[in-house]
Amino acid sequence: MLYNKGFLFLLFLWVSLLSTAQEREYVLLIHGGAGSMTALEGEPKKEVIYYSALDSALTIGNEILSSGKDAIEAVVAVVTYLENNPLFNAGVGATCTTEGTFELDASIMDGRDLSAGAVASVKHIKNPIMAALAVKEKSPHVLMVGTGAEDFARDHQIEMVSDNIYFATPKTLKWIEELKAKSKKNGTVGCVALDKKGNLAAGTSTGGTANKLKGRIGDTPLIGAGTYADNNSCAVSCTGHGEYFIRHVVAYNLSARLKYLNEDIEKAAHHIIHEELSPHAGMGGLIAIDKKGNFTLPFNSPGMFRGFVYKDKDGLHRAVGIHP
Ligand code: ASP
Repeated sequence: MLYNKGFLFLLFLWVSLLSTAQEREYVLLIHGGAGSMTALEGEPKKEVIYYSALDSALTIGNEILSSGKDAIEAVVAVVTYLENNPLFNAGVGATCTTEGTFELDASIMDGRDLSAGAVASVKHIKNPIMAALAVKEKSPHVLMVGTGAEDFARDHQIEMVSDNIYFATPKTLKWIEELKAKSKKNGTVGCVALDKKGNLAAGTSTGGTANKLKGRIGDTPLIGAGTYADNNSCAVSCTGHGEYFIRHVVAYNLSARLKYLNEDIEKAAHHIIHEELSPHAGMGGLIAIDKKGNFTLPFNSPGMFRGFVYKDKDGLHRAVGIHP
C-alpha cells in the first residue's frame, strides 16, 4: 500500500493542502533527482528498490531530527547515505563525462549563519558532501575545485578513493564502453531540513549531467543556484538541467521571493519551476522548507525521486514518491 502511486498522490495533495496551517516540530525533505526517469525504463520492480532507498534516507534523517540534533547534521548524514547508494547520481553511481571519468560536485549551507561550503569537479573524494562540510567549517572559503579541493580534503582526513573508477557501477561501466552516457542516468541527491530549534540547512550532491564535458560544473556546487539556506527564509536543494538553474539562480531566487515579495513557499517555487524554467525547457525540480515548516517539492520533469518526513501535533508523517 505504501508504494501505491494513487495513495502517494493523495498523500502529497493532502500535505500541500495542510501546508500553511500546520505547526511542525521538524521537517526533512529529500530528492534523488528529477528527470525523464529512464533509470526505471523496462524495470518496473526497480521502483520498489528506489522507494525503499528513499525511505531508508528518511529514517536516517528522522532519527537525527527527532533526537533534537541540528538540521545540518541530518542533511550531511542523509546526503552521505544517498552518495553511498549506487542507485543515485552522486558518489558511487555518479554519471560520467564523455571521456568516461567521474567528476563530482557537492555543496552544503547552514541557515543559522549563512555559512556554506562546496567542492566541484573532484575525482577521488568518496563523499563529496563531507568535503563540502569541511570547506565550510575548516577553511575561509566557500567553493574549492579539482585537485586543490582534493588536497584540502586529504589534509582534513576525509576518506579518499585511490581510483576514479571506484564511482562506477556495472551500469556506468557499460555506458563508458558504449559511450552512451547521454541515454540513461540516475538522479542527483539533496536534502533540506528544519530542526526543532528552527534552524534550516540544505545540501546537494551530484555526478553532474550525463554526457557532460570534462571540466563542466553545474548548479549543484554553486551556492544560490543549486543550494541555499537562510533561517530568515527557507532551505532549498535543486535538481535538473544545471545550466538553467544557474541562469535563473533558482535556490536564491526562491529565498528572495519569500523575503522580498512575502510569497508563500509553494507559490514562489511553482512560479520559478513552471513559469521561469519551463518556458526555457529547463527541466528539473526542487525541494524547499520555509522557516515555519511549510514545504514544497515541485518539478516540471516526468518524475522526481522524493520524500518527506515531519512531526507535528498529530504525530509523524512520511511518504516517498517518484511520479507526478
Ligand atoms: N543539477 C545537476 C547538474 O546540472 C544534475 C541533476 O540534478 O540531475 O549538474
